[in-house]
Amino acid sequence: MPMVIAIDGPAASGKGTLARRLAAHYGLPHLDTGLLYRAVALTLIDAGIPLDDEAAAARAATGLIADRLADPRLRERAMGEAASRVSGIPAVRAALLAWQQRFAGTPDGAVLDGRDIGTVICPDARVKLFITASAEERARRRHRELEGRGEAASLAAILADIQARDARDASRSAAPLKAAADAVVLDTTELDADEAFAAARAVVDRVRTQ
Ligand code: C5P
Repeated sequence: MPMVIAIDGPAASGKGTLARRLAAHYGLPHLDTGLLYRAVALTLIDAGIPLDDEAAAARAATGLIADRLADPRLRERAMGEAASRVSGIPAVRAALLAWQQRFAGTPDGAVLDGRDIGTVICPDARVKLFITASAEERARRRHRELEGRGEAASLAAILADIQARDARDASRSAAPLKAAADAVVLDTTELDADEAFAAARAVVDRVRTQ
């Protein structure tokens, strides 16, 4: 049976790092689904189209090509905010659903990380993890990551970003951020990356041997 691992959680919870490590460990392909929303936002920004133009956003999502996902600008801080705005548009989510489900349909399975993987995209995933951490700890991690990339931003500004994104992602009517009823919730506030990886592996290994 294919091993689909669905990993959801709020911004900067460490779910991306965890997803990459699990994918490498189990030899599965990995899709960071946040990149899809970021790419839709970047397409609009590059074309000078406002982010609330729903028809243009839906067209950008339908026409999304995989090559765009490698653009380094997608990782910039402002793009997370822009992605969060287009991600509330139901037609954008509908267009990206098929894309993500095709990826998840890889014969051996796949690891997908995002906000609605366990609830909407892969409701039948064999493993569902919901990764979280306090907003303050997530802000500290994002701050370190941005500093490492030479992108300066104050800790207070990053915390405000994270809180605004949490509120928007959790309150939207289309696929709000929430843990699936059958997800294992992993709070990583007190865990480092290795400890979080070990905890996640234990969950996957338990399911594999069932
Ligand atoms: O995970 P990342 O920070 O790259 O996601 C950027 C934004 O894209 C999120 O704040 C969220 O609004 C949106 N998103 C989503 N569903 C996903 C992945 C990302 O709505 N599966």
